[in-house]
Amino acid sequence: MASVLEEFQPIAAIATTPRGVRCLQRLGEDPQMTLWVGEALGEMPRTRVYSGSLKDHLSAIWNETRALVFCLATGAVVRSIAPLLQNKQQDPAIVVIDEGGKYVISLCGGHQRGADRLAESIARQLGATAVLTGASNALGLPGADVLGEPFGWQRGVGDWNAASAAIARSEAVEVVQEVGWKIWQQHLPPSHPFVGEGLKPMPPVADLGARIWISDRRVPTHPEPEIPEIRWHPRVLWVGVGCERGTSARVIETGIERALSQAGLAPEAIAGLATIALKADEIGLLELSRDRHWPLKTFEGSELRAIAVPTPSAVVEAEVGTPSVAEAAALRAAGASEWAEALVVSKQICRIDGEPGAATVAISRARREYSDRPGQLWLVGTGPGSLELMTPAAQMAIAGADAIVGYTLYVDLVSPLLRPGQIVESLPITRERERAERAIALADRGLKVAVISSGDAGIYGMAGLVLEQLAAKGWDGKTPKVEVLPGISAVNAAAARVGTPLMHDFCAISLSDLLTPWEVIEKRLRAAAAADFVVALYNPKSRSRTEQIAIARQILLEERSPDTPVALVRSAYREDERIELTTLDRLFTCEIDMLTTVLIGNRSTRRHGDWIVTPRGYLGFDGPAGSPS
Ligand code: SAH
Repeated sequence: MASVLEEFQPIAAIATTPRGVRCLQRLGEDPQMTLWVGEALGEMPRTRVYSGSLKDHLSAIWNETRALVFCLATGAVVRSIAPLLQNKQQDPAIVVIDEGGKYVISLCGGHQRGADRLAESIARQLGATAVLTGASNALGLPGADVLGEPFGWQRGVGDWNAASAAIARSEAVEVVQEVGWKIWQQHLPPSHPFVGEGLKPMPPVADLGARIWISDRRVPTHPEPEIPEIRWHPRVLWVGVGCERGTSARVIETGIERALSQAGLAPEAIAGLATIALKADEIGLLELSRDRHWPLKTFEGSELRAIAVPTPSAVVEAEVGTPSVAEAAALRAAGASEWAEALVVSKQICRIDGEPGAATVAISRARREYSDRPGQLWLVGTGPGSLELMTPAAQMAIAGADAIVGYTLYVDLVSPLLRPGQIVESLPITRERERAERAIALADRGLKVAVISSGDAGIYGMAGLVLEQLAAKGWDGKTPKVEVLPGISAVNAAAARVGTPLMHDFCAISLSDLLTPWEVIEKRLRAAAAADFVVALYNPKSRSRTEQIAIARQILLEERSPDTPVALVRSAYREDERIELTTLDRLFTCEIDMLTTVLIGNRSTRRHGDWIVTPRGYLGFDGPAGSPS
């Protein structure tokens, strides 16, 4: 299973019939997915047997399972899981597949546990239809309760059900976004219900159905708000901490709580903690960082000294070599250049009677939110054109990504796979570097990014450019995590349409001299001609580049017969596909453009009706008819 499903592990799959087992086995082997079968089925390969009733078994595995995939009647699933369901934040994602493997139903945990995405991915894998019944999905909108997840935002207090219901009724929803990335606002369908700054104009207040706050503030809750409200908290607050040796976690935590509440800030908006390198081993700080999942950033005294702060202290300077720890570390962690803008709470000291130590706390606000989600780059080959020729793994990656980056034509070709809420950025051809840089930038911010190329992404595609640029930036090979998903390249697609021209040694040569000097291309053409490779020419001709194909023909004619079969395959497997079979001699009379792949046979390649065959040698080296040259 591709890393698309990583976030759902551990996955338990359950079947009660041999057909169900076979269906689930099509999901592939994964050490993190356990395929359970009832005792009645007995031992089967790659499965584990549970004894007793399904209900008892489910209750035994419920708490340590992130997702459950059943191949079973929905009625039976509903009855079995009913006693175990607690809430939609914690229950496993529940997905049900019918025994025929035609439908994949997202049953529970569609949004917050990702069952919708899991169902989509499994449907892609099985060639089935995902059945999603959530209202936001039907409206083409991201769910209000998952809106901020790709950016690592935290959910705050709110009436989530009522707000989602207002969206389902297509009522206007006010968005008040004070902090955090606004990119999601640019990828909504035209019919979206969001009003407010940067969105649609505000209607009369009486017409509002709900309000979404996107803020680092603990936005005051009216005892009876006139409309349902929900709160998302982007993690923009960096807490600088200075403390005496041995200060307890409780003292530091209390100091942070006091500072937050004094400034009306939400704890969910905390990005992390920052301090001086001398305190990197301070037990209270380490405990708090671990328990609250707040990263701890440490800075050398010399780095902190360089930062102007409002409340420097000569005493602190004498002790640790910088006049400020808490304020300077908070500002440094937030990447702020100006304390007047970034510092939201200046330093405060906290002590608690009976607890050891004292902590100084200051808070600053970063322009960009922190995300603890590791970014991923999936370099996806989408094949020549039709969806059937795209691998299920590639389809899963596109359906599962937070963002899709690619050339406009290819983004259009994969549009049936796109999900509401995805960030889709298509850029015109020739802006490849920009596209690769953009993809890396999105992954750096924690998004799962699918970079799509036609054919195979690693053959004259975007994958190479992305890896080159990552390497140039000093990438450690791990973050962002990269996966290349192979695709059917134009050479395979074109060959399949005309027979078996590639049955013997072949090579691909791109005639585009935009990035490769023409002398190099010519040298390779000569070498291929001399060595009798079947040759696939990519990028054979464009409006401004017309000479190259004529020169290539001449070079090949020096070594091969004028009758050598040639196939021109344009837009293979697309609606406007066009195929022409000709010979090397007559090549110059044919229509060729940038959407064409030119296949040129070797000395033994021949035509048989509408087919081109390159003998492999089974019937003698040159085949039954002997060499045509
Ligand atoms: N990564 C792609 C190649 C991109 S270079 C792949 O692996 O297929 C672009 C060239 O590929 C085009 O100029 C054309 O020569 C060829 N090409 C791409 N898609 C094609 C298709 N559907 N039919 C024929 N040729 C195609």
